[in-house]
Amino acid sequence: MASNKNILFLPGDGIGPEVMAEVRRILDWLESKRAVGFDINEGLVGGASYDAHGTPLTDDTLDAAMNADAVMFGAVGGPKWDDLDFSLKPERGLLKLRKEMDLFANLRPAIVFEALAEASTLKKEIVAGLDIMIVRELTGGIYFGEPRGIERLADGTRRGVNTQVYTTPEIERVARVGFELAAKRNKRVCSAEKANVMESGILWREDVQRIHDEEYPEIELTHMYADNAAMQLVRDPKQFDVIVTDNLFGDILSDEAAMLTGSLGMLPSASLGAADEMGQRRALYEPVHGSAPDITGQGLANPLACVLSLAMMLRYSFDLAGEADLIESAVSNVLSGGLRTADIMQPGKAKVSTSVMGDALIRELDKIGA
Ligand code: NAD
Repeated sequence: MASNKNILFLPGDGIGPEVMAEVRRILDWLESKRAVGFDINEGLVGGASYDAHGTPLTDDTLDAAMNADAVMFGAVGGPKWDDLDFSLKPERGLLKLRKEMDLFANLRPAIVFEALAEASTLKKEIVAGLDIMIVRELTGGIYFGEPRGIERLADGTRRGVNTQVYTTPEIERVARVGFELAAKRNKRVCSAEKANVMESGILWREDVQRIHDEEYPEIELTHMYADNAAMQLVRDPKQFDVIVTDNLFGDILSDEAAMLTGSLGMLPSASLGAADEMGQRRALYEPVHGSAPDITGQGLANPLACVLSLAMMLRYSFDLAGEADLIESAVSNVLSGGLRTADIMQPGKAKVSTSVMGDALIRELDKIGA
């Protein structure tokens, strides 16, 4: 049997521990029913870490994250810690992890499960069966570029400055992530920028095209201006497979795509770093939602975003596509069977708690995958 995968569990705050408990049950199921082994270490992050150690991320936890095969993250934050100094806020724990692990590629799938197609604000036929992946560059571009700031001009008015800046290596590495993902999916990449009005966009387009031609000629590559991509996402989202884009446009396009699917409680994500000599990337998997303090401790949290993040971990960090498919099928079947947590409740369906949704997933896995 292959050596165990080393996973660091960071449940965090609010509903983080509640949804992560259901993920843990699925990992236990995989260990007992499939030939995969996991070594799971658990740590504190965010407000929970602050309460125990006075910091949202200890050096030991950071070390464990740097040495794990993958990190599974719940959520951080909550009103209890709102008044802390900026540097101690729970969210700093996540930001520090992203920075130290150099997680430059953010993967946000937008998947519409058949049973939830009616929950989208778009017409059912536009979104039913949707399965696209947005790859957003996460550590460069206008959110980090220098110079930046607000200055006062000689005439007394003010000027705000941010700088969109990308280097070829930054573009190349995120482009490669996009092409590699497409190779495991439908083999199509659309690169989005504003090459019509931005030099950084021209460089982006040229570098993505070159990486394609030199390394991934078997993948179909198209280029689209980001504003057109925004329109196409609501006009005909199923035309896309993988979209690769920069930090700013990716921020907007990934939220737009997410809303095609309905609820925050259904959205997984992954953030990937550079590959080592074995091809293994540092990686952190987390639901898109936050710690949801308004529903914490009430059994109302939808665990599916976190469960689907686990499926991404199996697929992208551990090459366990069969197990990932199994989990995604179990989610789809449980929804088709009519079970809903409160956030995705529809008339005529059965409203269930976090753990009852987890029970149903395990039952379904027993049925389709044991
Ligand atoms: P949120 O995502 O926590 O909640 C927004 C709304 O969606 C709430 O009404 C919540 O009840 C609901 N919701 C979220 N996830 C759900 C789930 N799985 N099941 C059912 N309903 C769900 O965002 P917010 O309210 O803006 O932020 C709350 C706290 O979370 C803040 O402290 C914020 O800083 C933090 N936050 C953390 C992360 C993260 O850890 N990655 C992301 C976003 C927000």
